[in-house]
Amino acid sequence: MWRASVLTLFPEMFPGPLGLSLSGRALTDGIWSLDTHDIRTQATDKHRSVDDTPAGGGAGMVLKADVLARAIDAVAGNPVTDERPRILMSPRGTPLTQARAAALAKGPGVIIVCGRFEGIDQRVIDRRGLEEVSIGDYVLSGGEIAAMALIDACVRLISGVLGAAASIVDESFSDGLLEYPQYTRPQIWEEQAIPEVLLSGDHAKIAAWRRAQAEALTKARRLDLWTSHEARGPQKPPSKGGSSKG
Ligand code: SAH
Repeated sequence: MWRASVLTLFPEMFPGPLGLSLSGRALTDGIWSLDTHDIRTQATDKHRSVDDTPAGGGAGMVLKADVLARAIDAVAGNPVTDERPRILMSPRGTPLTQARAAALAKGPGVIIVCGRFEGIDQRVIDRRGLEEVSIGDYVLSGGEIAAMALIDACVRLISGVLGAAASIVDESFSDGLLEYPQYTRPQIWEEQAIPEVLLSGDHAKIAAWRRAQAEALTKARRLDLWTSHEARGPQKPPSKGGSSKG
């Protein structure tokens, strides 16, 4: 079973959206598991404090190394017996990609530390070997929503979670391209028709149209993705449609 362990000051935020829809059903079905750990339970002083002012001055508070390390040690234990990557959600981290989510989904799971305030003491990152992962170039007020995004991206890739495996193959990023536009009934809506080709029943023509759309969209919106897609050279043709999305 794929296991996610989350260290947070707000365990009551979980499972939150992860408890609904696809990920929620998979959770109930025992395809993956989620355990949350309240960092504050490791505080020892009478105020149960978890943060302190930054060394060197400046605004905000920093999560204390001793408290957080005890929380990590209680969950992660020995890296030999628990091989799950130890991830710190952090805007300074390596940006999360579909490829990374797929790699994580193939592994035993994740241990995730959610920061709060100005972040966490650097010594914990270094001494506990935390890998910093970012979900984008913007700053959230805490790591919890970022952790949910990472877990959701992984869980839907675990086999048995999505209905049709084909819907993973075709979607955005899996081939280094953004996804082509999707349509469904009614065939005419506000005088707008579904593109002819999609109603033709000609699978080769449909695949070619989708490919051209995906390429045009990627070129127009994400030159960064398009450039690396081009650099990788010719790709296998996209699989046929007919998949359902969750
Ligand atoms: N002062 C820090 C930001 C702290 S935000 C800085 O400038 O880098 C508080 C916490 O929210 C962080 O410790 C991290 O766990 C989480 N967080 C904020 N933005 C994030 C992002 N883009 N990706 C992942 N985690 C993020």
